[in-house]
Amino acid sequence: MKITNLKYTPVFVPIEAPLRYSQGAHPGFSRIIVELETDEGLVGLGECYSGKAREGQLEEFRPSLIGEDPFQIERIRWKLGSPGALKLFGHILPFAAIEFACLDLQGKALGRPVYELLGGKVRDHVPLSAYLFYRYPNEKNEGEVSNADQMVAWARSLVQQYGFQTIKYKNGVLSPDEEIETFKALRKAFPRHKIRMDPNAVWSVSTAVRVAKKLKDDDLEYLEDPTWGLRGMARVNRKAPWVTLASNMSVFAFEDLPVAALLDVLDVVLLDPHWYGGIHRARVAAHVCETLNLDVGMHSGTELGVSLAAMLHLAAAIPNLAAAPDSHYHHLRDDVIQGGKMKYENGGMKVPTGPGLGVEIDRDKLARYHEMAKSQQMGSWIEDPARPGIVTYYPKY
Ligand code: MG
Repeated sequence: MKITNLKYTPVFVPIEAPLRYSQGAHPGFSRIIVELETDEGLVGLGECYSGKAREGQLEEFRPSLIGEDPFQIERIRWKLGSPGALKLFGHILPFAAIEFACLDLQGKALGRPVYELLGGKVRDHVPLSAYLFYRYPNEKNEGEVSNADQMVAWARSLVQQYGFQTIKYKNGVLSPDEEIETFKALRKAFPRHKIRMDPNAVWSVSTAVRVAKKLKDDDLEYLEDPTWGLRGMARVNRKAPWVTLASNMSVFAFEDLPVAALLDVLDVVLLDPHWYGGIHRARVAAHVCETLNLDVGMHSGTELGVSLAAMLHLAAAIPNLAAAPDSHYHHLRDDVIQGGKMKYENGGMKVPTGPGLGVEIDRDKLARYHEMAKSQQMGSWIEDPARPGIVTYYPKY
């Protein structure tokens, strides 16, 4: 089988209401859908973050991909970017989308799901978290979440609708004291749920330690990236040793794993098949974590159905997945895959069992959401309209 063409389509898919996080806001989810066409008529699917830089990198990949065999992923990886080049030139995200598409093609050619190319599945069902954000109201003036009561009410509706057993509460938007109070309100409303916090590394070490002290008796599942950098995380760990720390911001590449282990920085590594350069490599990273006795969870990055399928296949094949993966998916109003949005079941999702990733593109929806992308600011950095010019709240702490 030979690759004959690479296509990429930027899309913007609406969400229930705009999401706020420490460094910006999401009006909807903007992504790039990647398709690898082959001489056998099979099409492999991939997906990555949006933005002109990523589109340019994919454009540069095309001549190197045409004529390649999608089973030769290591050859393709070294052709498009050896480890140093992937990091230096920032190719890792679009390369991951190519890797997803190659694995999708392999699975389709063999009539086997991707998890069988990863050593087989150790679970059929992947638990996912309810992903709580502060939100702006939508165009119908609905969906606003700006205080503890609104956050708890929304969490109740999500738990009731989807059966979530784990709640992720996104922080770094209001003051730490307000967010501590809201965590306590969530803990009171959900005494048996796992609840995690994530301020996206905008708190200082002293703020992070203060939050950890205030929540010492509130059964925090883990504190995700309370501050930036391995040294900052190590200081939080030393000053608040009772807190379980997780990261996808100070630990997000292979070279971070042994350093994090040696410094004894954290307990949970949040893997991501996009940031580790593909599903295969994220699975290898999980093996490294197993060796280092680090627990594995999974980061979410506003994925649509293609990336979510990649995450589910990866999660199915990782024995040491110790924390429910995060997913933004329940925020979406629609998806670009056939059959509409993938269905939640018992607080998670079943692993797709069709050949390859097990999802196919809905051409009409791809065209519709590509049209919407033309009038949207694309990319991973979108300013919060209520906080123009504000990068983080850190100086206010
Ligand atoms: Mg995170």
